[in-house]
Order: sequence, then structure tokens, then C-alpha cells
Amino acid sequence: MPELPEVETVRRGLAPVMEGARFVRVELNRPDLRRPLPKDFVTRLEGKTVEGLGRRAKYLLADLSSGEVLMMHLGMSGSFRVAARLSDKTPGAYYHQRSTTRAHDHVVFHMSSGARVTFNDPRRFGLMLLVPRAELAEHLLMRQVGPEPLGNAFDAAMLARACANKKASLKAALSDQKVVAGLGNIYVCEALHRALLSPRRAAATLATRSGKPTPRAERLVAAIREVLHAAIKAGGSSLRNHRRTDGDLGDFQHNFRVYDRAGEPCPTPGCRGTIRRIVQGGRSTFFCPVCQR
Ligand SMILES: [Zn+2]
Repeated sequence: MPELPEVETVRRGLAPVMEGARFVRVELNRPDLRRPLPKDFVTRLEGKTVEGLGRRAKYLLADLSSGEVLMMHLGMSGSFRVAARLSDKTPGAYYHQRSTTRAHDHVVFHMSSGARVTFNDPRRFGLMLLVPRAELAEHLLMRQVGPEPLGNAFDAAMLARACANKKASLKAALSDQKVVAGLGNIYVCEALHRALLSPRRAAATLATRSGKPTPRAERLVAAIREVLHAAIKAGGSSLRNHRRTDGDLGDFQHNFRVYDRAGEPCPTPGCRGTIRRIVQGGRSTFFCPVCQR
């Protein structure tokens, strides 16, 4: 499932062709994704201008001139393809391959910028909703979402508060969208490795008995920001190169230090450990049992 850096990369890839542009024509090739598409979806989009394309957690948010927001989620397998004049590319760098099979092109936006933006989603866990802007913050899918890890509100004190008294492991706590938004399996593993913290450690150990952040919490916040910035930067460079990025991570996957690297030597300087794979909550965790404590 795409995580925050992938969604942010998609946003940056779509913004130049969608922001300030009008939906000239909207094609629907089926009535639903994970859920039915909104009632009168086509007429609520056609003729409206995208005033801004933002992101919250893993949702893309297109602010429309009608006062509604088009919320879009990539689900497990969704991707956008942009066709503008001669170039055809898929913004976003993904670890798991994206489909380009035309049979899975479910929604096509013809924009006044001249671009054709196609949403492709073989497994159809993606989502498109229209929500009045004023109701967005209180929307069921938004109101429980925790702080943006790259936002100013996210710091060690906040993370410690969210984890104090939690029985869960660090892996489970960081994967919980209520604790911090947008992280999934890959970046949780990568951040914990950079912070030298075991994924099995109790999340509550990020806080002192009085609820103050421990140095571990400080380290973890710095590691989360670092790994997300690095991934977004790598995704951004794949956009600049106009490389087709469906399934091709370019240099990005070489930045993974532990994810999908079971059996390889730990990259922490001076550590002689070997990366291990364990299963937590039904998902693979990759970590170094020697330097991650
Ligand atoms: Zn190690």
C-alpha cells in the first residue's frame, strides 16, 4: 500500500497539470471503486476548477471551485497516469508494481491544462469522495487521523503522549494512523532502524512515568522525518527525470536499509548484525536484532 512519501510524490506529479485547471470532461468506466463513486460525480466535477491539490495522511485533496473537496485514496493498487502532449508518466515511486492495464482504467479526468489524468486500480481498494470543504475536518475518514509527521505539531512530546500507557509494540503504535498519519510497513521499519529501536519494544517506553518524552522519542521523531524527507526527495527526482515510475523505484529502493533485506548485513556503521524478518500483526517486520534495542 502506498505510504505518505508515495502519495506526496503523486501529489507533486499531479499538481502541475491539475492546479488551476478545470475538469473539461470526466469519464467513468465503472460506477464504483471500493465504494460507489459519489452521486452525480461527473456533473459535480465538470466545469469546476481545482484551486489547490493538497494531501492529508494518505489522501489527496483537490479543492474545487464549487466548495467541495475531491478526496482520493490510492488503496492497495491505485495509481494515476498523466498524459500530456507527448509524455506519458505515472507520478509516484512505488515499491510494489503498479498496473498499466487499460482494463483497470476506471476514472479519466480531461483537464483544461490539456492533460489526461487516468486513475488505474486493479484491486479497486481506491476511493473517490466529494465532501463539502467545511465538513472535511469532521469527516469520518479524517477526524481520527493523527498528526502529519512532517508538520510542526508532530514532536517528541506529542508522540510520547500518544504512546504512554500503550500496551502495543512500537511497530504497532507507529502503524496506527491515530498516533501518526501516513506511515505503513516500509517507513515504520526504516524509521525504527534509523532510531536504533526494536520494533518489539513497548511503545510506552517512549514516555517517562510522568508522560514526558524519553530520548528514544526524540530519536524516533528525527528518524521518521529523515526517512520521509529522503523518500520524498527520491520520488521527486524520479518526477524530474520524467522516468516512467510504474514499478520502477529508480534509486529509491536502494535507500531501504532493512525493508525486504532479510539475511543481509545490517548497514548501521560498526554493527555486525544481520537483518531479520519477523511477523507482527500479520505483517512482515524487518529489523536488526543487534543494534535495534
Ligand atoms: Zn544492526
